[in-house]
Amino acid sequence: MKTADELTNLFRERGLRVTPQRQVIFRLLHGNDVHPTVEALYDSARTVMPTISLKTVYQTVHDLEAMGEVTLLDVGTGSVRVDPNVEHRHHHLICTVCGKVRDVTVDVDGLRLAPRDRRGFNVEDVQVHFRGVCDECELILPV
Ligand SMILES: [Zn+2]
Ligand SMILES: [Zn+2]
Repeated sequence: MKTADELTNLFRERGLRVTPQRQVIFRLLHGNDVHPTVEALYDSARTVMPTISLKTVYQTVHDLEAMGEVTLLDVGTGSVRVDPNVEHRHHHLICTVCGKVRDVTVDVDGLRLAPRDRRGFNVEDVQVHFRGVCDECELILPV
């Protein structure tokens, strides 16, 4: 994802308003690899900008998604997560206990559907989700 300054310019070029609230979100997302939920992003944003609304956070991440600067992920953890890593094709490790999501690189080039299994679909993308228990949750789970 681009830097906060680059995004500010990009938004302005497209005639979108850039408020200090939006710039806080740009800064929080840049280089962020923990796939925060929109709610978590809102909580972090509020600590620096108490006047920010959840609606602004949603609107901003949707605008960023429309511009291809973030991906909004629904990996079955019950919340939409924001993924600013759009530069590198990757898949995800998902903790089934705490919902933590981390990037993982795995070669799926050899993964093909036989024509009869494609059911008329033109497949454009493959997303692999590795689900399990993360190291932190493993420590607190009863044995
Ligand atoms: Zn966990
Ligand atoms: Zn990711």
